[in-house]
Amino acid sequence: MNNIFLLVVEDDAAVRNLITTTLKVRGYKFLTATNGEEAIMLASSHNPDIVFLDLGLPDMDGIDVIKSIRAWSDLPIIVISARSEDRDKIEALDSGADDYLTKPFSVEELLARLRATGRRLSAHGTEKGESIFVNGKLKIDFSAGCAFLGEKELHLTPIEYKLLCLLSQNVGKVLTHTYLTQKIWGAAWENNVASLRVFMATLRKKIESDPNSPQYIQTHVGVGYRMLKQE
Ligand code: CA
Repeated sequence: MNNIFLLVVEDDAAVRNLITTTLKVRGYKFLTATNGEEAIMLASSHNPDIVFLDLGLPDMDGIDVIKSIRAWSDLPIIVISARSEDRDKIEALDSGADDYLTKPFSVEELLARLRATGRRLSAHGTEKGESIFVNGKLKIDFSAGCAFLGEKELHLTPIEYKLLCLLSQNVGKVLTHTYLTQKIWGAAWENNVASLRVFMATLRKKIESDPNSPQYIQTHVGVGYRMLKQE
């Protein structure tokens, strides 16, 4: 049995049934909403652990649901969008969503997203403001400004270190190219995705045992990157 309590917001009955059937089988408890207003009401009255949110709702834009929830809570939000809504997906992440599922998705993808977010919920030592971050063999001492892999200190450039810190402080969450480039270079450079890729590649060479099959930093093609919480 699972003690994670979810809110599923989806107006499409077929997609909603796929999600709720999967959750039921796995022993998750959940509530459902079929429009934005109901979603905001249930999120505030029932305080779920995770929200699955369809972006195309009949009464309002899913982005506005995210903004509304973010005004009072940082509970994880996983958005559900069609492939044609890629821009909306990125906007949703930049508005505070944690992760996304692209329709059509499989039960395995749904459960993988749920596990990734569940791990983030139970992750210790990843709160913003804590001075030491540990994830598998990776360790960052924020106050000393240095990072280690096992016993070995990593020799990172300032940008690689900043990138690693941003990903670590948001472990389990997908960070968009825009978010990362703005944080690193400022708003004027928000389209500097090519440079971001270069620094990501050099960072990966230093922290991943196999940069072609990364364990720590996952690529989301056309969207951004996520640090994975190690088991
Ligand atoms: Ca919809």
